[in-house]
Amino acid sequence: MVFDKVDDTLQIRLVSKVKTTMKENVYGALYGDTRGSFYAFDHKKEIVKLNPVVHSFMLNYQRLIVNLTNYHMAAMIEQLNEVPSINYLLGKVESIAKRSSLKPFEKILLTYFKAECFYCSKKLSDNERETHVDHFIPWSFVQSDNIWNLVLSCNKCNSSKSDRLPTRGYLEDIIERNHKLSDENEDATIITLMKNYKSKKIIMLYDFSIKNGFDSIWVPKY
Ligand SMILES: [Zn+2]
Repeated sequence: MVFDKVDDTLQIRLVSKVKTTMKENVYGALYGDTRGSFYAFDHKKEIVKLNPVVHSFMLNYQRLIVNLTNYHMAAMIEQLNEVPSINYLLGKVESIAKRSSLKPFEKILLTYFKAECFYCSKKLSDNERETHVDHFIPWSFVQSDNIWNLVLSCNKCNSSKSDRLPTRGYLEDIIERNHKLSDENEDATIITLMKNYKSKKIIMLYDFSIKNGFDSIWVPKY
């Protein structure tokens, strides 16, 4: 079952069930196990606040932590699963956070920016297969789709960049692009999508992904 593909009401029910279980059995227990040193939480406000030291530890070792978690999650699901078709379990667990489509983001980006490749400036035609939405900082590091990390790109750049970081000069470009997107923008959708964005954040993610082994830097070929 792919979460994104199930019915909206079922999604909400699942989320609320997970939330209830987390509140009952997870936040408090883990808080106790870590003697209150990892995070603070408030059930009423639904807030979890990480200790900055823990946060930076998690970013430093993100790849390792994610791989360990995925491995144990797959091992756990394997035990719960009676169907023997579990060969691809690890692959499924690894892509658990993956979204099915970036189309909605493409539409938004095309509303605010010229139809051209963020990297090589090539004009993007209306041809369906020509316009791609690229994760500036690789998806396998951020594991989420945030508009501030998404850019329009041509087919060539998108496929040659693959899972790599672009050269650092582009970091300035995306920061500027994000400024343009959020400055004086009164569109409620953009305000929500940019709510947790700070230029400091994308710089930090860029540096942390290098530390996590994303150190083969991509340069576009013109
Ligand atoms: Zn390009």
